[in-house]
Amino acid sequence: MLADSHCHLDWFREPESVVQRAVKSGVSAILSNSTSPENIGPNLELSKKFKEVGCAIGLHPVDLLSLGEAQIMAAVKLVESRMHEAAAVGEIGMDFKHANAAQKKLQERVFRVFVAIAIGAKKPVVVHARFAEKECLSILEEMNAEKVHLHWFTNFHENAQKAVELGYFISCGPIIFSDPASAEVVKGIPLESLLLETDAPVFFKGKQSEPSWIPEVCAKVAELHGVSSEEVAGKTGRNFEALFLKGRFLP
Ligand SMILES: [Zn+2]
Repeated sequence: MLADSHCHLDWFREPESVVQRAVKSGVSAILSNSTSPENIGPNLELSKKFKEVGCAIGLHPVDLLSLGEAQIMAAVKLVESRMHEAAAVGEIGMDFKHANAAQKKLQERVFRVFVAIAIGAKKPVVVHARFAEKECLSILEEMNAEKVHLHWFTNFHENAQKAVELGYFISCGPIIFSDPASAEVVKGIPLESLLLETDAPVFFKGKQSEPSWIPEVCAKVAELHGVSSEEVAGKTGRNFEALFLKGRFLP
């Protein structure tokens, strides 16, 4: 099974045709992630419209910095109230790239709130960690999170290894076409811990990505691991099923 474990379908002008193109290219599951309260409704609608689409609902660590305390609490309430309709809590996490000390603290506090919601609902978390990889891992470990997807987590070998040891899943995307360091990290991640993603519609080398790129990402991972594309599709597909589809269909 080919699955795009992380993208943002509602950011496309015509998400319907994006899904159709993905299905045509062989992709049979797509997890669309919400980053702010406005994204939650449209993503849930898409997940109801297409059997191939599931969705994660949450508040992105960068987006939350432009919200006041009342708005953040309203977002938390919204996620809680619609949790039963979603496959996961995401995209949540911490991003210290442009955050000052107070903002880092706020991100950590909100991250903990969402991880606790996911654990309570027995749903996976989809985590964005940038310049905060170690910090995110230690919070997840401390809180005993078990169903964890670390998206685009291929910046540092040692963090990826730690995540594998903790039993978390790591996704890799189109960055491995052009960034040898990320490709090298992916080489060291066992297929049993890997997921494929596009982070669409993020641009790579001037081209807007789409979930229909997943077969190419799969082929690149196969080349890096020295195995067939079928093996990568099989193993990453099983990982996706174990992490998200159970969360979507079972209480
Ligand atoms: Zn994303």
